[in-house]
Amino acid sequence: MNPRTAVATHAVSKRYRDVLAVAALDLDVRRGEIYGFLGRNGAGKTTTIRMLLGLIRPTDGNVEVLGKRVQPGTNDVFAHVGYLVESATAYPNLTVRENLDIQRRLTRAPYAAVDDAIDLMRLGQHADRRAGVLSLGNKQRLSLARTLLHKPELLILDEPANALDPGGIVEVRELLRSLASERGVTVFMSSHILAEVAHLADRIGIVHEGRLLEELDRDELRAKERLYVEVGASEPERAATLLAAAGFAHIEKVDGRLRVFGAEERVPEIARVLVNSGLDITHLAPVHEDLEAHFLRLTGGVG
Ligand code: ATP
Repeated sequence: MNPRTAVATHAVSKRYRDVLAVAALDLDVRRGEIYGFLGRNGAGKTTTIRMLLGLIRPTDGNVEVLGKRVQPGTNDVFAHVGYLVESATAYPNLTVRENLDIQRRLTRAPYAAVDDAIDLMRLGQHADRRAGVLSLGNKQRLSLARTLLHKPELLILDEPANALDPGGIVEVRELLRSLASERGVTVFMSSHILAEVAHLADRIGIVHEGRLLEELDRDELRAKERLYVEVGASEPERAATLLAAAGFAHIEKVDGRLRVFGAEERVPEIARVLVNSGLDITHLAPVHEDLEAHFLRLTGGVG
């Protein structure tokens, strides 16, 4: 395994009877990066994460984490991994500090790790409250604090923004960013919300029906943002020919309308070309197609 790789899957698949939850997935997460594993509900994210953690056995293929092959039952590598899988629970009758202290003992972390984690997750004012009475957002912070106690090199987080309010989401984003940049922690996180990972991840893998459809780094993400002028005209074919003849080089036809690229500044010219040739214009508007639309198009939604 490449020493710069933190997590790798090699053609890993998981089948549940007639459902292929994960299909020949190849992942290569590099050390120090934040990798956003993005997919709609049911795409196979949780199943993948469970295989990364050795909680379930792949039907095919294999998984390596921090240079070691993962097999159910092996756990030495997980001394360096912090993980959060759905519905992480705390002991409701113990305080935040007591919950963290139990985890500290389990991971043999030093005493100071508890206060560090409390500070990092801004749980100071809740430290002596019972976990059971915390808001959902603060419960999630407690779960994240537990994953950080033993100062892991790698964090594997399943939907870490679940249950957090918008302010909490921003805080967690900042925290993950500083863990990656200041401590070199690798973060592999899943999400079904593009906006949540688009501003945080160094790379995004888009998963759909168990397959990795696309991997994008920051620059590629930006390049996916598309700007075009949408044109509806009485004779679309003729309109396309006329516009091409007038020097509009990139035109796509979608659902009876034209998308004219690189033309945001030339809307009046488009109108003139069409009207002067006797066509009726039914629609003429610049469109900024964002990443969300790209994601929805890729995963079969409306967009
Ligand atoms: P979500 O965000 O809704 O959790 P996900 O992307 O994490 O979605 P998975 O939970 O991995 O998706 O599920 C992928 C597919 O595998 C789904 O069709 C799901 O119904 C199926 N599946 C998952 N676990 C099991 C199981 N234990 N038995 C049978 N089918 C399962």
